[in-house]
Amino acid sequence: MHALIFIKQVPDASQVRVNYETGTLIREGVPAILNPFEAHAVEEAVRLREKIGGKVSVLTMGPPQATDALKECLSMGADNAYLLSDRVFAGSDTLATSYALYEGARKIIELEGDVDLFFAGKQAIDGDTAQTGPGIATRFGIPLITYLIKLDEVNIDKKYAIATRLTEFGQETVKTPLPAFFTVEETLNELSYAPLPWLIKAAQTEIKRLSSENVELDRNQCGLKHSPTKVKKAFTPEKRQRGETLKGTCNDLAKQASEILLPFVK
Ligand SMILES: Cc1cc2nc3c(=O)[nH]c(=O)nc-3n(C[C@H](O)[C@H](O)[C@H](O)COP(=O)(O)OP(=O)(O)OC[C@H]3O[C@@H](n4cnc5c(N)ncnc54)[C@H](O)[C@@H]3O)c2cc1C
Repeated sequence: MHALIFIKQVPDASQVRVNYETGTLIREGVPAILNPFEAHAVEEAVRLREKIGGKVSVLTMGPPQATDALKECLSMGADNAYLLSDRVFAGSDTLATSYALYEGARKIIELEGDVDLFFAGKQAIDGDTAQTGPGIATRFGIPLITYLIKLDEVNIDKKYAIATRLTEFGQETVKTPLPAFFTVEETLNELSYAPLPWLIKAAQTEIKRLSSENVELDRNQCGLKHSPTKVKKAFTPEKRQRGETLKGTCNDLAKQASEILLPFVK
C-alpha cells in the first residue's frame, strides 16, 4: 500500500486578526501550522500502513519554511516527505497549484512506486476554496471521494476501497476502484500520540526537494501569468451587530419569536 497525502502549511487562523482600517489580515507574528484536515489524513494513512503494511508519503508545495509542516507529518509516522518549491510557482491560483502538485505527485510515483490512495484535506483553512484536491484528482482521471468520514475497507490486492462520506443530506457509503483520491473531514479519526521511535526516525529523515530542475513542468501552466483567477476585490465583511436576547417563559419566547419571524413568512 502506498498512500500520498497533499499537505499545506497555513497561518494559524485562530490567531489571524483583521486590520479593519486597511481591510487586510495581520499575519505578523502568526505561527504557521499544518492545515488541520491533513493531520487526520496522515493519521488514517499511517494507521492503514500499521495494519496492512506499505508506506506513506507526503508532499507540499510552498516556501522552504513549509518543511516544518512536513517534519510534523514525519513525526506522525509518514515515511517520506517531499517539498515542491520553485520561483516558477509564485502567484499560482488553485488551477496552477493543482497542476504543480499533479506533476510533483507524478515524480513521486516515479521515485517511490505507484500510489493506491491519494489524500488531501477537505479544504485549507486560509484559501478555503476546496478546489485543489479535486483539481489533482481530475488530472489523474481517478475516482474522487470528497468529505471522507470513514475508510471502511481497503483491499490492495483486489484494488478497491469502501468509504463513507458526508453529503448534504446525510452519509453515503461507496465502493471505489483504486487508485482513488479522498478529501478528508476532521471527524475521520482521533489524532494519536506518536511513539518515541517514530519521533527519532522523523528527526533523521531527510526532506526531499523537488523543483523545476527535477520535475518535468509545462511552464505555460505555472505561476501568476498562467493563473486565470483574478481577485476583483478583497474586503472584510461588515461586523455583525449583536442580536437581541429574548427573555421570558417558553410561551413568552415562542410568542416573541413568532412576532419577529412572521413578517418573513409569505
Ligand atoms: C491570483 C492568485 C494568486 C496567488 N498567489 C499565491 C502565491 O504567490 N503564493 C501562495 O502561497 N499562494 C498564492 N495563492 C493562493 C493559492 O492559490 C492557494 O493557496 C492554493 O491554490 C490552495 O488553495 P486553497 O488555499 O483554497 O486550498 P484548498 O483547495 O481549500 O485546499 C484543499 C486541500 O488541498 C491540499 N493543498 C492545497 N494547497 C496545497 C499545497 N500548496 N501543497 C500541498 N497540498 C495543498 C491540502 O490537502 C488542502 O487541504 C494565490 C491565489 C490566487 C487566486
